[in-house]
Amino acid sequence: MTALETDLLIIGAGPAGLSAALSAAQGGAAVLLADLGPGPGGQIWRGAKASDGGESGTLLRGVQRQPNITALYGAQVALSERGPQGGHAVQFSTPQGPRRVLAQKIILASGATERFLPFPGWTLPGVVGAGGLQAMVKSGLDVRGARVLVAGSGPLLLAVAAGMRAAGAEVVGVAEQASPTRLLGFGLAAQRGGKVGEAAKLLWALRGVPYWPATYPVEASGGERLTQVELGGLTRRTLECDWLAAGFGLVPDTRLAALFGCALEGGAVKVGAWQQTSQPGIYAAGELTGIGGVDKARLEGSMAGYTATGQVERLRDLPTQLEQARHFQASLSRSFALRPSLRTLPAAGTLICRCEDVPHAALQACPSWTEAKLQTRCGMGTCQGRVCGPAAETLYGWTFTGVRPPLLPLPLADLLGE
Ligand SMILES: Cc1cc2nc3c(=O)[nH]c(=O)nc-3n(C[C@H](O)[C@H](O)[C@H](O)COP(=O)(O)OP(=O)(O)OC[C@H]3O[C@@H](n4cnc5c(N)ncnc54)[C@H](O)[C@@H]3O)c2cc1C
Repeated sequence: MTALETDLLIIGAGPAGLSAALSAAQGGAAVLLADLGPGPGGQIWRGAKASDGGESGTLLRGVQRQPNITALYGAQVALSERGPQGGHAVQFSTPQGPRRVLAQKIILASGATERFLPFPGWTLPGVVGAGGLQAMVKSGLDVRGARVLVAGSGPLLLAVAAGMRAAGAEVVGVAEQASPTRLLGFGLAAQRGGKVGEAAKLLWALRGVPYWPATYPVEASGGERLTQVELGGLTRRTLECDWLAAGFGLVPDTRLAALFGCALEGGAVKVGAWQQTSQPGIYAAGELTGIGGVDKARLEGSMAGYTATGQVERLRDLPTQLEQARHFQASLSRSFALRPSLRTLPAAGTLICRCEDVPHAALQACPSWTEAKLQTRCGMGTCQGRVCGPAAETLYGWTFTGVRPPLLPLPLADLLGE
């Protein structure tokens, strides 16, 4: 297998990875931008095109026109090891077969995943993640005329509800577990962070849609598919709906960083002032260093791109802008902290690991992830803990035990490099 050689490998082509690529390439570095998705954009700009208007279009056009950037899509990391001369050797599984990349430096920009919290009925068809339903609609799912209830926690719920309405769905309500006081605190922080315009647009798009604070789903029911949801907390009611889009915030996707041996702190990748991780020559940017939204992701991406390629003179006022974005990040985590009572939502028989059919009762007595894996196979199925991992850590207080390659199932030939 011939190796592709590059100065800088960036893994993840969302706002952080795209900004990093553009900043690094401006200084003349050869950049290889890899993503497991079929194209650039990440979560927020999924399916976006270079011809689009706004921030996403500008960034995508910049990346497309930059001759120093090569893109590799549909590329999943299979293995990584130290390369020659202190660099890194990363093997990818791609639709065209395995690809080996030799890079002097690496920027990790793998984003976040959604946190699901199990409650009775959460595995019924029709109950999906909030961001998950949005992604399905962006990929072509028709929700015209469907009744959608959006529930869980975080500002993403409003974006999803507005997206569903724009796609022709009837949004029956938005249930947010955070209390009215915390939501007020978040509103003030959003005002200070210059996000009033964005919030006003969302609220206008959702005019007439009920918004219930301190409220969350306690049970989903139906025959073969979801037909109704019972809400608990401040607003107790039962609603008829076709889809429940439920997401309890985002969690940094640290698995790739763990594979590269980067240290974690508080569930996120630990980085220094210039986005460097604990591993020499490896940087991290975006949601995997802490959930803070698109502005933080872009700023961290630029910072990592400039520092990884030694363009310190271009950093200018980035540190100050980042400080402001991190204030917003702190207010996000304070305002949408999960209420402890959510841990009591699953019943004894509620499945926590749906790949391996492991119920809550089988996990309650397990003191750690290792024990749970040994005794029940929780987290060892097809999704490799992507779905049940954040839920189990929230419910049982277990800490992450690290990862082993491959992160996702891939062809054996790609693992062997044939
Ligand atoms: C499901 C979901 C939906 C969201 N929707 C919105 C929204 O509508 N509006 C909003 O403001 N925010 C949304 N967010 C939040 C959003 O993640 C951030 O605001 C912003 O996109 C973060 O940018 P990022 O570059 O850090 O990560 P992302 O945009 O998540 O980009 C990360 C990229 O890394 C790639 N990747 C991950 N692991 C690997 C790997 N092992 N190998 C190769 N590539 C990999 C992914 O395919 C992805 O393209 C959503 C988040 C999630 C999880």
